[in-house]
Amino acid sequence: MNSLKKHYDVVIVGTGAGGGTLAYALRNAGRSVLMIERGDFIPQESDNWDARAVWGENKYQTKEMWQNRRGKLFRAFQHYHVGGNTKVYGAALPRFRREDFGVLEHKEGISPAWPISYEEMEPYYAQAEKLYHVHGATGEDPTDPPRSAPFPYPALGHEPHIKSFLDKLCLQGIGPVSMPIGIDLRPGGGCLFCGTCEGYPCQVLAKGDADSCCVRPALEDPNVELLPQAFARRFLTDSLGERIVSVEIEHQNESKQIYGDLFVSACGAINSAALFLRSANEKHPDGLANSSGMLGRNFMGHNFTWFVPFHRKRSEQDIFQKTWSINDFYFGGPDWPYPLGNIQSGGKWPIFEQIYPRFARRFLSELSKDRYFIMGTLSEDLPDLENRVVLTSSGQIRVEYRPNNIASHKHLNRLLGQILKRAGYRFFITKNGYMNTVDKVGHQCGTLRFGKDPASSVLDPFCRTHDIENLYVVDASFFPSSGALNPTLTIIAQALRVGKHLQDQLDW
Ligand SMILES: Cc1cc2nc3c(=O)[nH]c(=O)nc-3n(C[C@H](O)[C@H](O)[C@H](O)COP(=O)(O)OP(=O)(O)OC[C@H]3O[C@@H](n4cnc5c(N)ncnc54)[C@H](O)[C@@H]3O)c2cc1C
Repeated sequence: MNSLKKHYDVVIVGTGAGGGTLAYALRNAGRSVLMIERGDFIPQESDNWDARAVWGENKYQTKEMWQNRRGKLFRAFQHYHVGGNTKVYGAALPRFRREDFGVLEHKEGISPAWPISYEEMEPYYAQAEKLYHVHGATGEDPTDPPRSAPFPYPALGHEPHIKSFLDKLCLQGIGPVSMPIGIDLRPGGGCLFCGTCEGYPCQVLAKGDADSCCVRPALEDPNVELLPQAFARRFLTDSLGERIVSVEIEHQNESKQIYGDLFVSACGAINSAALFLRSANEKHPDGLANSSGMLGRNFMGHNFTWFVPFHRKRSEQDIFQKTWSINDFYFGGPDWPYPLGNIQSGGKWPIFEQIYPRFARRFLSELSKDRYFIMGTLSEDLPDLENRVVLTSSGQIRVEYRPNNIASHKHLNRLLGQILKRAGYRFFITKNGYMNTVDKVGHQCGTLRFGKDPASSVLDPFCRTHDIENLYVVDASFFPSSGALNPTLTIIAQALRVGKHLQDQLDW
């Protein structure tokens, strides 16, 4: 970019699923939009697809350290780049179920209603699926919500060993369905179907990520600009604390202020909460827009467990494995009248880099290469006021989280174990990702929840803060509940909905 303007109509902090999509929705509106991003574009380089660089050295993960509730430091599983975490995500883009927008009674509590219905979100889900090139099949899944249009692209189909595994599940009366996946297989699209979506950046920019689908297209509008490598330290308000006047950033070792009319935080659920907490001032002593006391609270991140069954023979030809999902137990299961969640395929990645003991890692990885496939159980964790993001006295992020709704998740794990055994997979390894704060960060949500009542929510139903009229939050923070499905399509759909609202309602 050349030089910064003195003033922008809209300033968006963060370019991930929420921020990148919102910038796209506001392009060509004749208004000046600035995206501020702490990271930069990921270079298209051979390391993008190199398992050692990606999984061994964690090359694209931030080195930033956070604390858990006991004060123990962990390296944040976050990826600060243009496109945010979607640069490395697995591109599984299911819609939430219609019931996820209402109250659901769980074994250990209530999953609260959203202030909008599925029907209000539906048109934006449809747009989101087009924008992120989602492949899927209609009519397979009885839990699917109603849709105004079929998937924009057909389902991907299954690799040979995966197909044979799914056939064995069907014999048990289980109904596996196609997992909606966002990759660019259109005529002329760059996807090589190489199966490296999960965890890897796409070297040919053909994954449906926020960088490729939204940020780059938005920048074709000369009114839209991007300031990379700029860290938003805090928002500054007017003397009454009623409007945001500017955002203070750190860029090229200098502190600068960016002025604008409307400000959007899209830093991800943890970093948006941290930004609001850092922005505390005399009028907002407990953090910006925190008259409800809800800022940073109700942090959620799903309960999940990896399952890794082994084939008898190597399955080199199974390249793209993240193609299926099971929702048979989403709302309950045998002897369990409460929601259990989703079972889904994982991509093909060297999971044993993390599971095997370090001294035997290379040997065991070679031995098991192409003999296993990855799947996971994903269940809802429930909002809890005490599960929260706070800042330490030195300003470090601390994620205070105690797991909940675990009994249902364990029940789902038992069911999957039985299913695998019946299907002839007697040997499988599991890796628990539900007790550990570190593992909650990938699907983080809920820290500035939206709602109609300013006393119990930070954002209104269009993601504007109740307290400050020109401040919005458009990322995973707004979720009042976590659902039991991958969150990103819902974040994208909401960003499109907010973008439409801003275009229609605001006096530009
Ligand atoms: C390995 C992995 C696999 C995943 N797979 C899937 C999947 O298959 N399906 C799915 O639905 N979800 C998946 N997810 C989760 C998904 O990536 C997130 O839900 C989604 O990216 C969240 O969108 P967001 O807009 O809330 O935040 P992000 O996408 O994280 O974007 C936040 C942006 O804000 C920037 N930022 C943060 N703080 C500041 C600051 N102070 N100043 C300036 N910029 C800032 C960040 O650099 C980033 O670009 C996966 C996540 C990981 C890590």
